[in-house]
Amino acid sequence: MESYGVRVTKDYLVFCSAHFITYHNDKCERIHGHNYKVAAEIFGPLNGDFLVVDFIDLKKLLRKITDELDHRVILPRFNKILKVAEDEREVTVSSGQKKRWVFPREDCAVLPIENTTAELLARWLSGRIEEELRQLGYPSPPRLIVEVEETCGQLARYEVNRGG
Ligand SMILES: [Zn+2]
Repeated sequence: MESYGVRVTKDYLVFCSAHFITYHNDKCERIHGHNYKVAAEIFGPLNGDFLVVDFIDLKKLLRKITDELDHRVILPRFNKILKVAEDEREVTVSSGQKKRWVFPREDCAVLPIENTTAELLARWLSGRIEEELRQLGYPSPPRLIVEVEETCGQLARYEVNRGG
């Protein structure tokens, strides 16, 4: 059995964003930033052009997705401790009585995740990558790996493996 894969990691696949994570004991980090770096690896059969995914397509879609997060405050919509309320102008985040933050709407990326850990950012990115691939007419890849590096030498990895 043979298998093919492509992997993209480029200096420009970076998003510089603010976030803070919460812990189960109601603890909440101070807001801070990272220069996140993304790598994606897609496995699958070759298409009629003998490609798994065209590198040009893959780079372009990754750039599009990282741009959705770049220079924004990344917030989790489904966090148990934080209440995230959005209206047209602002996003208001509160953690019970303790803290409250208000951001301009356009400065935020509110994601359908439970916490803004690198692990869950990698999972969200993988879903967005699949969505973009689908829109470009690619079949759903049997295996997909996304890595998110938070700081140098500290990265999280998410893998979808449909055993194809
Ligand atoms: Zn952090």
